[in-house]
Amino acid sequence: MNDYVFPPRQQPALSISGEAGLYPVARIFCVGRNYAAHAAEMGGAVDREKPFYFTKSAHALLQSGAVLPYPPGTQDLHHEVELVVALGAPAFRVSTEQALRVVFGYATGLDMTRRDLQGEAKDKRRPWDTGKDFEGSAVIGALTPALDVPPVGPQAIRLTVNGAKRQEALLSDMVWDVAGIISHLSTLYHLDAGDIIMTGTPAGVGAVVPGDHLAGAIDGLAPVNLEIGPA
Ligand code: MN
Repeated sequence: MNDYVFPPRQQPALSISGEAGLYPVARIFCVGRNYAAHAAEMGGAVDREKPFYFTKSAHALLQSGAVLPYPPGTQDLHHEVELVVALGAPAFRVSTEQALRVVFGYATGLDMTRRDLQGEAKDKRRPWDTGKDFEGSAVIGALTPALDVPPVGPQAIRLTVNGAKRQEALLSDMVWDVAGIISHLSTLYHLDAGDIIMTGTPAGVGAVVPGDHLAGAIDGLAPVNLEIGPA
């Protein structure tokens, strides 16, 4: 094996509640329009035939509790609180009945979004990457092992900004449930341990500015906290 010509970047990883070991992240898949009320507020509708996806680089990960400098190129940075599913085993063409067996754990996450760039991309029928995949745009709290989490159902998911409620829904409001997402995504990719899925956000997304404190929470999971810093 030849040496690298420069040192590789650090492996992106998530912390795990109650465990010293880290969860190494490979790919980040994100589900679009998975809550009907959010699809409506964005001026769209849910495609009930099948979910759709976009991705973020694992190097876009930011740990809960960090400060995210207000990112460049936007005037409209938005929060999206989401259930994050982390896989711990391979899955290819897995049935909905078998899908939950590959889940390593769950976390609370923030899909931070440069909404103006995403909107421009939508208007021009261009990819969403610059709106969605930027440094620090995937903020994720500690993973809770799946064995310690009750079945995903009517748990509350919510987000406050500076203590004021912005988003609140139930995980059971998701159009595509966790098993359905894993099963469908596994028809498109050879999923494996280290792949994580951000499962979409409920209604109430909105802008944040430097100095704001974001707190995302899902019943039974570790919270996610973020402060927006100066540009
Ligand atoms: Mn999202």
